[in-house]
Amino acid sequence: MPYDLAKSRLNYAVRTGRAPHAILLTDSSGAECGLWAYAAKLILCEDGRFIPHTGHENLFEVNRPYNHVNSAQDGDYSGPCGACPACRRFEAGNHADFILVEDEKGIKIDRIRALEGELASKPLSGRRAVVIRRADLMTREAQNALLKSVEEPLGHTFFIVTAQGAMLPTLRSRLMELRCAGDEAPGAMRDGDTLADWAKRGMRMGRGEPVSLEKGEKLDQLLDAWEELYRAALMARFRLETGQIDPALMKIARDCSKNFTIPKLLGIMEAIHQAKRRLKGNANPTLTLDFMAARIGLADANASKGL
Ligand SMILES: [Zn+2]
Repeated sequence: MPYDLAKSRLNYAVRTGRAPHAILLTDSSGAECGLWAYAAKLILCEDGRFIPHTGHENLFEVNRPYNHVNSAQDGDYSGPCGACPACRRFEAGNHADFILVEDEKGIKIDRIRALEGELASKPLSGRRAVVIRRADLMTREAQNALLKSVEEPLGHTFFIVTAQGAMLPTLRSRLMELRCAGDEAPGAMRDGDTLADWAKRGMRMGRGEPVSLEKGEKLDQLLDAWEELYRAALMARFRLETGQIDPALMKIARDCSKNFTIPKLLGIMEAIHQAKRRLKGNANPTLTLDFMAARIGLADANASKGL
């Protein structure tokens, strides 16, 4: 299912009381991440063991959350319960401590100034969720103004920001990014044999063996298939539903889930995402593949050092 992995990460961060105060949600497909409402509801949900966050651990960093999450403990990190008064108010659209800031044309500074006023009062429920949609469309002034609120977070206020493009680096650096994968649609036309071949090579890539592009192959299609492969492998590892997936891909995904550790699987996913970003920035495909192999090799080296 879309966003499964991102939801698990959010659940873990919030339910262990270590959610960052300013979260940036992005989607690897380039669309707006659709998890902002889920995240807000989760933060406001009154069911569970919420403890305000004090440290600054990067809980969304690759390899971190799942070191502590295994299938036996999954139940401890549930999503919004949907039954408590907070969840019910949220669903009815009248939770007093939920603030949604959005403007199709881009949020202006006036709205952020008004928000500052809203934040001055104490939240009724003890915590507050502020969603800022499409920060990348905000004016520079508005971003700078928002920066101030985000920089001095009140213990009870959580910012959830979405973006589809660049924003001021100063603002961005204050937000902890959670990259979501909501686009579950398989890539371009692929037949079973091609897919099985891509998946096998994806597994070799994960083992750190050199993989090169064959004639006429497009790296973006290969990366899409690998992303699907490793997402399925992770889901299998957590015994979660993988949704619709090609059987040729699923067979190899099961092998990957058996042969690789969870941090390793997450590391490979991260390397795939980085390669996709490089490719979008017009990087050379062969170099991108080489870089990816180096990154996976480095992660293995760190893992063997116990990092
Ligand atoms: Zn609830």
